[in-house]
Amino acid sequence: MRSILAVSALSACVILPACSSNHSSNDNRRASLGAVDADYRRTAGDDAENVFDPIDLPTANERRLGSGAPGPDYWQQRVDYVIDCELDAESKRLDAEMKVTYTNNSPHELEYMWVQLEQNLFRQDSLGTRSRGRGVMRALAEGFDGGYDITALTHDDDDLEFTVYDTLARVELPDPIGPGEVFEFELGFAFDMPPHLRRMGSEEVEQGTIFEYAQWFPHVCNYDDVNGWNTLPYLGSGEFYTNFGDYEVNIKVPREHIVAATGVLQNPYEVLTAEQRERLELALASDETLVIIEPERVGTEDIRPAGEGPLTWRFKAENVRTFAWASSDAFIWDACGADVTDLDGTERRVMCQSLYPKEAESWYWNDDSRGSTQVIKHSIEHYSEWLYPYPYPIMSNINGPEGGMEYPMIIFCGSRTNDRGMVGVTDHEVGHNWYPMLVNTDERRYMWQDEGFNSFINLYSMADWYERDVDVSRAIRQELSIATADRRQRINVPPDRQWSRWIGSLNYRKTSLALYLLREVVLGPDRFDTAFRAYTHRWAFKHPQPADFFRCMEDAAGADLAWFWRSWFLSDRVLDQGVRLHSVDDDAVTIDLINSGGMVMPATVRVEFADGSSVDKTLPVEIWSSTDLWRVRLDTEGKRPVQIRIDPDQQLPDINTDDNSVSVG
Ligand SMILES: [Zn+2]
Repeated sequence: MRSILAVSALSACVILPACSSNHSSNDNRRASLGAVDADYRRTAGDDAENVFDPIDLPTANERRLGSGAPGPDYWQQRVDYVIDCELDAESKRLDAEMKVTYTNNSPHELEYMWVQLEQNLFRQDSLGTRSRGRGVMRALAEGFDGGYDITALTHDDDDLEFTVYDTLARVELPDPIGPGEVFEFELGFAFDMPPHLRRMGSEEVEQGTIFEYAQWFPHVCNYDDVNGWNTLPYLGSGEFYTNFGDYEVNIKVPREHIVAATGVLQNPYEVLTAEQRERLELALASDETLVIIEPERVGTEDIRPAGEGPLTWRFKAENVRTFAWASSDAFIWDACGADVTDLDGTERRVMCQSLYPKEAESWYWNDDSRGSTQVIKHSIEHYSEWLYPYPYPIMSNINGPEGGMEYPMIIFCGSRTNDRGMVGVTDHEVGHNWYPMLVNTDERRYMWQDEGFNSFINLYSMADWYERDVDVSRAIRQELSIATADRRQRINVPPDRQWSRWIGSLNYRKTSLALYLLREVVLGPDRFDTAFRAYTHRWAFKHPQPADFFRCMEDAAGADLAWFWRSWFLSDRVLDQGVRLHSVDDDAVTIDLINSGGMVMPATVRVEFADGSSVDKTLPVEIWSSTDLWRVRLDTEGKRPVQIRIDPDQQLPDINTDDNSVSVG
C-alpha cells in the first residue's frame, strides 16, 4: 500500500539531534489511532495473543532453571561404546560387534531400553521410505533392501529379548536399571552399504572407492527429563539426538585404505608409514598446509606399511555424541595446525586435515592458502575465540559422496564445483561442532536450534574469511518468499513435519536472520554475545531445550524478548512496517509509523536533507506494545528534509516496501 501525503508549507525546517526525546505523547498516540486510513489493518499471526504477552514456557524446576541454566538437579545419561568392525570393500558390507556401557544418571528406574536402528531407514518398507521416499531412497526401487542384520544382543552371555519397530528397537531388560546403576550389553550387527545417499554412502572414483559411514551403529536412545525415552523414528530429515559418551572404535579395512574418523588414532605405528607420521607431526606445528600424501603417490605401495592383509585402525574419542568415519584407497591428504586457547588459559594445537580424491583437487581443495585445510583452521580459530574453545584435538574434512554432513571431529563435504561451495560447506560443517556437537540439542524436534544457530555464526566467519561485511540478503529473500506464500509455516516445527520447500529456509536462513537481527538491531553485539556465550557455556556438553535458550538469552541479556521469540520462532507472523507523512513545520517533520504485519521489530527512520546529509533514528520495539501506529516528531535543525525512509539499510524482511519511504514536498 502507498500512503504518501502531500504536505504544503515546507519552509525552513530545523532538525535537532536524533537522540532527542521527540516521540509523541500518549495523547497524540490516542488521537492518531482515530486517524488510521481505511486500508490500514493489522494482519494477525497464527495465534490470537498480543505479540508482547509472556510466553507460556514449561514450568521451571531444579533441573532446568528459570534463568535458562541447568539446575542443581540436572542430569543426563551417558553411553560408552567399544566397537570392532570390518569393512569388506568388495561386497561393501560392514560387520561389527560392540560393547555398550549404559550409565543411568537419572533418578528413575528404567524398565526397558530403546535403541535407534538408523540403518533400517534403508529397508524397502521403512517408515521413511514409505512416507518421505521422494529423493531419499531412489535406489530402493531397484531392489536394494538394506537395514541391519542383528547378529547378537546379549547381557552376560544371555540373549536379550527385543522387538524392532522400524528404526527403533525396544529391548527388554532382565532387571530394571536403577538410579546410578550401570548396564552393559553386547550387540552384533551387519549391513550392506546403501547404493544411495543419506548422510553416508560410497563412491567410485578414478583411483578407488570412498566409503563414508555415519549413523551406522545401533545406539541407545536419549532418555531425558523432558520426554522420557526420545523415540522419534529416523525418517530422513530429522538428524539425531544422542547421548554423550566415550568411544573406542577399531576399524579393519584393506591395507591400501586411509581412514579418518571421530577421535584420535591410537596406533599410528601400525597403520601409517614413518614418513606420514613425521609429516603429521610437522603439520600440527605448521600454520601452512603441508602434504601428507601427494596426489601423484596415491595408489603406490610406498604410502602404506609393508605387509599383507587388512589393517585395523584404532580410534578413541572422549565425550562425543556420536562417531563417524571415512575410508578410501583414493585419498590425497594434507594437514596443518590451528591455535585454540582452553577456558583455563592453556594453549594447544588442533590438527586440521583434509582427505579428498583426485576429482576434488582442481576445486581448490589443495590450494595452499585458500584450500579446505585452511578453511578448517580458520573456522576452528574463529568459533573458538568467539564462542567456546573447540574441545577436541582433531578435525577432518572428507570429500566424497555426501554433499555436506557433520559429526564430531569429522565432516563430509562433497563440493567439487567451485571454491565458494567448498569454503561455505566446510565452514558450515565445522561450525556444527559447536551446535549441536558441543551444545547437544534435539535435532529430531528442533532443527533450527542447530542448523539456524550454526548458519548464524557462519555469517560472521564467512565475512571474516572473505574480508567483507556480513551478508544477509539471501536470508531476507528466503524469508520474503515464505512470508508471501499462500501456506506459511513457523520455525518451531519438527523437520519431518515441515514442508520440504521450507526446511532450508526456516531452519537455516530464517533462524540465522533472526539471530543476526537480534544481535545487530535489537540488543547490540556486546549484549547479544554476552548472552549467547552464556547459553553456549552453560549448555556445553549438555542438552538444552528451546525454552532453555529463550530463558538464557533473556536472563543474561536482561531483556524481555517474548515478542521476538513469538514473532520469529513460535508463529508464522510476517513483518510489514510503513511510514506516512503527517505534517511539516518550520523546525520538525512529523510522521506516522505503521505496523501492518503481525511481527514486530524496532523501527529505524532515516531523514534525508536537501543538502545531501541524513540522520537515523531507531525507535524501540516497545512503540508497538499497545498500538500499530506511532506518531513521531523529528526535529530538523534548520535543514530542509526531502525524504523519509524506514529500514533504510534494508535489513528487515518487510513484505511490502512500497510504503517504506515518503517524499517531503
Ligand atoms: Zn547444517
